Amino acid sequence: MQHFQNMFPSEDGGHEARFELLELLETVLTGMDELKDPSRLTLGLESEISSDYYQNIIDAAVLPEKGLGTKKSVEELLKLLEGHRFLNRQYVANATPLPNNASIAGNLLMVLLNGNNLWDVDGTAAAKTEVQITSMLSDIVGYDRQKSAGFTTWGGQGAVFQSLRLAIANACPEANQKGTPNHLYAFCSELSHFSLYKSMEASGIGTDHLIRVKANRDHSMDLFDLREKMTAVIENGGLPIYVLATLGTTDTFGIDDLAGIKQVTEEIEAAYGLPRIYIHADTAMGGMYSFFNGYDFAENPLRLEDDVLETLSRYKSHFQHLKLADSLVFDFHKLGQTPYTTSLFLVKNREDFKAVDLDPDETPYVGNRGFGSYHTSYTLECSRMGSSIPIYASLLAFGIQGYQQILANYIRVNLAFRKKLTAAFPYAAVTNEAAPVTTFRFYPRNVRYHDEISGNITEEEVREVNRHNETIAEALGRFRNQTYFGSTKKQRYVYPSDSQSPVPLYVQKFYSVSPYTTVDAVDGYIDFLKAHVVPADAITG
Ligand SMILES: *Cc1c(COP(=O)(O)O)cnc(C)c1O
Repeated sequence: MQHFQNMFPSEDGGHEARFELLELLETVLTGMDELKDPSRLTLGLESEISSDYYQNIIDAAVLPEKGLGTKKSVEELLKLLEGHRFLNRQYVANATPLPNNASIAGNLLMVLLNGNNLWDVDGTAAAKTEVQITSMLSDIVGYDRQKSAGFTTWGGQGAVFQSLRLAIANACPEANQKGTPNHLYAFCSELSHFSLYKSMEASGIGTDHLIRVKANRDHSMDLFDLREKMTAVIENGGLPIYVLATLGTTDTFGIDDLAGIKQVTEEIEAAYGLPRIYIHADTAMGGMYSFFNGYDFAENPLRLEDDVLETLSRYKSHFQHLKLADSLVFDFHKLGQTPYTTSLFLVKNREDFKAVDLDPDETPYVGNRGFGSYHTSYTLECSRMGSSIPIYASLLAFGIQGYQQILANYIRVNLAFRKKLTAAFPYAAVTNEAAPVTTFRFYPRNVRYHDEISGNITEEEVREVNRHNETIAEALGRFRNQTYFGSTKKQRYVYPSDSQSPVPLYVQKFYSVSPYTTVDAVDGYIDFLKAHVVPADAITG
């Protein structure tokens, strides 16, 4: 067994075992550093993903009869780095952050302790930090930390699923035993994330009972349409139980009017004598911007530029209402600069968990007994990783002000990018409001964005511009080992004059999510676009 003991951290804190582990870390870090190049997205050379790439892997995978040992297997791991994208300044595709060092150390600590956050007896550190970050972030969004509760879960999507489950169990207390009744409905914007769609499938309500509400020009939910669709559901015998308010849509950072949504649901509850309609604020993308809720915009202690300040104060006008939502989420692995998966599902009223909690009889080997007093039997997961630890580490390292500075920089970089983009490309239009992301659309000839959103265009014309953008996205994508821009096939819907059904717009995406995306780097992005955007006449001519 001695031989195997050497493959583990020490039991007694001996330095030999520590150095062995440090050496492995050194191997990984050095291997990675040797491949880094800030002018390229990928570590080392990109590997060609041919059509039989995964088939070859299926055929070739071998589980060794005799283990390679720790050192050799870590050396083997280094091969995985080759061709991997690294989240340096060249990555501007999506909200995929470079994890900060404090969160990396927190993650390591979590792994070394291997706490199980199901139960504090097995995970004191994770339980403690989960309670701490729940209190800290409750203050940020205006929840009462004496009444709120939170737990880390599987992403923004996990938060949507768990909130829907709370909504069902609270609206229909019998649903847990008898199954979900078939007259329940949920509502979200047509631009919301697919998380709710999946949750409707998985919860058994069914996607036919998901009502999509039209979006306004600024990509927020159209509240007239919400009211109309809710009323129609009720008049046909349905029961609205849930509204998903998105604050920061995934592609365009559109922000739903949460206060307005709350007003609509309250009016509808009162008019029809309905139970509470649950509101989950999907703040997976935007939640970090609530760190400006307490910022003194008049004093402006960080000396932020006027245009940055203007965007941030517009955000605050929405994010200050987060306390109206029954639950929300902090997806730190998006704009919080931490590794996957670090998401905190935060609930305003911890009483809501009672509707989904397990009876102690159902949890025989863990739970509330003579020892241990934190047992998260209301989560869908059983064992849970202690991802509250890397979140906690990150919150300590940056503080409110550090996060404000990082988040303000994303806006600053995007404002600079927009200006330079439209100056360099007369046939390009920026298609969202100022945000950490810029969506933009190239036109073969004149910019028609205004015509598109006001319906003064034919469907074929819109589709031609879509094809043009698809060609450009493909062309840019071929050079993604240099700089990786994003794109989306459904930035929003438009209603052409001759079309009965909405047509989605295809756009390019610039997302700045790293401290290495700075204003100084913007010229480089524009040069990359100039070099690789296919001229319109080459496509249409
Ligand atoms: C990314 C995102 C999600 C999903 O979050 P994951 O952490 O990837 O599960 C949900 N909603 C919105 C608005 C998002 O942007």
